[in-house]
Amino acid sequence: MSDWFASDLHLDPSAPEIAARFLRFLAGPVRGARALYLLGDLFEAWLGDDDPEPAHRAVIAAIAAVASSGTLVYVMRGNRDFLLGKRFCDDSGAILLDDPAVVTAGGTRVLLSHGDGLCTDDRAYQRLRALVRDERVRRSFERLPLEARRRLAGEARAGSREHLATASEYITDVNPQAVSALFTAAGVGTMVHGHTHRPAVHEHTLDAGVGTRIVLGDWHGSAQVLRWDETGWKLVPCPA
Ligand code: MN
Repeated sequence: MSDWFASDLHLDPSAPEIAARFLRFLAGPVRGARALYLLGDLFEAWLGDDDPEPAHRAVIAAIAAVASSGTLVYVMRGNRDFLLGKRFCDDSGAILLDDPAVVTAGGTRVLLSHGDGLCTDDRAYQRLRALVRDERVRRSFERLPLEARRRLAGEARAGSREHLATASEYITDVNPQAVSALFTAAGVGTMVHGHTHRPAVHEHTLDAGVGTRIVLGDWHGSAQVLRWDETGWKLVPCPA
C-alpha cells in the first residue's frame, strides 16, 4: 500500500506539459495507492467550479477515474485555487480537506497544510490571505461574471509576481515559530506542506521531541512528490 502527496502543480492551459505529466502520474504510480493527497495550488488559477475550461475538465475526469478505482483522493485549497468547492469535489470524486488537517496517513498521524499560513513574516501576504479566505468575500467574488473573475485573477497573479520578486527569501519562507506552534497545537510529529516550492525534509526541535517537516516541490521544477510505503517516507521526483 502507498500514500502519495503532491502540491503546487499550478496547472494552467498555457502549460499542457505539466497537465500531461500529472495525467501520467495518475494513470501510473498512483494506481492502486491507498490515498492521494493534493495539498493546494493544483491549479494556477481557479475562477470557480463553473469554469468550463476544457484543460481543467480533463484533469477533473482523470482524478475521477482514480477516485472511482478505489484510491481515496483528498484535495486542499491553496492560495491560487482557494475557490475550489463542492461541485469540483462532486465532479472529481475528491474529498475536500480543511487547512490545516490532521489525517492518518503513512501509518501515522500527519498534519497537512498548503503552507502559506505558516509564512507569517510576510505580513502583506497574510493580510491578503485573510481577505480572500473570508466567506463573504468569496461569495461576492463567485457572484461576478466569469470574465470579471478572470480579469481580477490575472491582476492578482501579476501583483503576486511583483511581490515575490521584491520580497526576500526569508520573508517568503515559513516562520520557524509558526511551525513549532502548529506542531505543538496538533500534537503530531510529522507535517507535510507545499507552497514555498522549496522541497526538503526539515527537522524541528520541539518541547515534545523532534518534528519532521516535509516540503513538497512545484511541478515547474523537478516536481518532488512524497510517497509513503512499507519502506517509509520518501521525497522523490514525480515518477511517470
Ligand atoms: Mn501556494
